Amino acid sequence: MRNLFFSSLLFVSISCLSQENSKVENVILITIDGCRWQEIFNGADSMLLFGKKYGNSDADRLIEKFWDNDLNKRRERLLPFLWNTIAKEGRLYGNRNLGSRFSVRNKIRYSYPGYAEIFTGYVDTSFKTNDLVYNKNTNVFEFLNKQNKFKGKVASFASWDRANGFLNKQRSTFFINAGYDDVNSEDLSFLQKTLNSLQKKYHTTEQARPDYITYLHAKEYVRQHQPKVLSIGFAWTDDMAHDGNYPKYLDKIFFFDNMIQDLWEYIQKLPQYKNKTALFIAVDHGRGLGERWVGHGPDVPPSENHTNETWLAVLVPGMIKTGEVENGPELFNAQIAGTIAKILGYKFETEYPVGLPIADLF
Ligand SMILES: [Zn+2]
Repeated sequence: MRNLFFSSLLFVSISCLSQENSKVENVILITIDGCRWQEIFNGADSMLLFGKKYGNSDADRLIEKFWDNDLNKRRERLLPFLWNTIAKEGRLYGNRNLGSRFSVRNKIRYSYPGYAEIFTGYVDTSFKTNDLVYNKNTNVFEFLNKQNKFKGKVASFASWDRANGFLNKQRSTFFINAGYDDVNSEDLSFLQKTLNSLQKKYHTTEQARPDYITYLHAKEYVRQHQPKVLSIGFAWTDDMAHDGNYPKYLDKIFFFDNMIQDLWEYIQKLPQYKNKTALFIAVDHGRGLGERWVGHGPDVPPSENHTNETWLAVLVPGMIKTGEVENGPELFNAQIAGTIAKILGYKFETEYPVGLPIADLF
C-alpha cells in the first residue's frame, strides 16, 4: 500500500543522460528549513509583518527593509540573489499563484520525514516524528559516493543534528558534519579551530547550530577539499517561525539568500566549479496560512493544511530551461534525489522505488 503513490507516476523506467553527456560535474544542494513558498514568491506577508508587535525585536527596521507595495520589488528585497540571478539563469518551481505546484509526498510534514524524502527520493511511512533514527534507506549522496567519479568527493553540512540520522552517519561512507559536532581532521585550519571553539561555547540550548557557523564550516571545506557533491542544511528560519517572530523569520530568509550568493560567487572563481555546477535549493515542508504560519505537521485540519506545499530552485547556467514555472503537473520533493543523480549523468536506483527525475528540467 505504501508504494501505491509511486506505482503509476514514479516507478517508471526511463532512459537518462549518459555519464559522458553530462556537462555538470558538481551538485550543491542547499535546504532552508520550513521556508514557505509564500515568502519566496510573494515576499513579506503584510498581514503578518504589520499585524503584530514583536516585543523588543527590531520589527520596524525589518518592515523598512522588507516591505514594498510592489510584489516584484518586495520579493527582490527579501531574496535579492534568488530573484536577480537564480530566477533569470535558473528555474523556480512552486509558485501556486501561477499554477506551479511542488509538494512533499509524506503525510507527516515534519522535518525528519521531509529531509528523508529529499535525500532518498522515497517516502518511508515509518518516519512519523523528528526523533533521531538512523535511516536504513540508501540516500542519493551514498549512491553517488559509490560511483568512481565521486568517491570521497561527497560531503554534507547541517545546522540540525538530525542530519546524522536521515543521512545515517553510522554507516555513512561520505563526510557528514551536523549540529554542534566539531569538524575533525588531522590538519584543521585556523578558521575550523575557531568555529569548533565558538560553537562549543554557543551550545547552551537544544536549538540547531547557528546557520552562519554551518555555512562557514561548509565554505572552508569547499576551499580545502572541493567536494563534487555537497549539501548545506540551514535551520534557523524554522526556529524563528516556531517562535512566532515573523520579522526575524524574514531576517533569516534574507541572510540565507546572502550566504547562497556568497557561496555561488566564491565557487565561480574555482575552475572545478565554474560553469560546471548545479545548485539546488529545497525545503523540507511548508507552513500553515494566516495565524497558522508558525506551525506545520499532520495535526492541522485537512481543509486548512497547506504544510505539504514546498518549492524548488535550480541554477545551472546555460544548461537548463529557465524562469518561473507556470502550471504543469504537481511535482514532489521525492523527485529531487533522482533529479540530482540525473543531472550528473546517473540513474539513481536502489532497494526501493525512487521518485522520477523532474522531466521538464532537461
Ligand atoms: Zn523543518
